[in-house]
Amino acid sequence: MTVPIQPAAPGPWLYTPSADDDDDGGRCANDAGAVEYEKLVRRQLELLGEDAEREGLLRTPLRVTNSMAFLTQGYRMRVEDVVGEGIFQEDHQNMVMVRDIELYSLCEHHMLPFFGKAHIAYIPNGKIVGLSKLPRIVDMFARRFQVQERLTSEIAHAIKGILNPLGVGVVIEAYHLCMMMRGVQKQNSYAITSAMLGEFHSDEKTRAEFMQLIRNPRAL
Ligand SMILES: [Zn+2]
Repeated sequence: MTVPIQPAAPGPWLYTPSADDDDDGGRCANDAGAVEYEKLVRRQLELLGEDAEREGLLRTPLRVTNSMAFLTQGYRMRVEDVVGEGIFQEDHQNMVMVRDIELYSLCEHHMLPFFGKAHIAYIPNGKIVGLSKLPRIVDMFARRFQVQERLTSEIAHAIKGILNPLGVGVVIEAYHLCMMMRGVQKQNSYAITSAMLGEFHSDEKTRAEFMQLIRNPRAL
């Protein structure tokens, strides 16, 4: 099984926090890199003209370090681990779709968030994946520095890699804070990207059905 994965970032400094880690909590023991990162954040505050020693900012370097460790934990994950035992043999050959998967990532150009929704569909070819695994795959790739285009295609290729389905479609709609808070400052502009593999690429009807399902009002 080959799954094209962005190589994990080098660097010993970031740990993978557990889900219930308090952002304001203590740092991981014996993590020299985290200490280094805190210093960097403190220096950043100073260079921006702040008094890093004032009360409100005292624990900010620690919080930022913990928060960045969380937001980039995708570098330290592999698709195989995220999916685990969640793959099943199944003859179903119709489209499987999960839509409106919440997504939060960081743009690699500005280190600012972009966020929105991912819609994923695939046509099985003997194997299906537990539905809850799809949002986990999204998170794994979103918790890295990204561009929306690459994020979209990495998710699609990861699903292709684990299921070898007849086709995969991924659409992401996202707002980019780097566009909204700075730059063009357009509050309502969002970007749509898609990656279509297999039948989603070759068969117009499959692709149209997928796009239609994304647009349909919620049935429930
Ligand atoms: Zn950006």
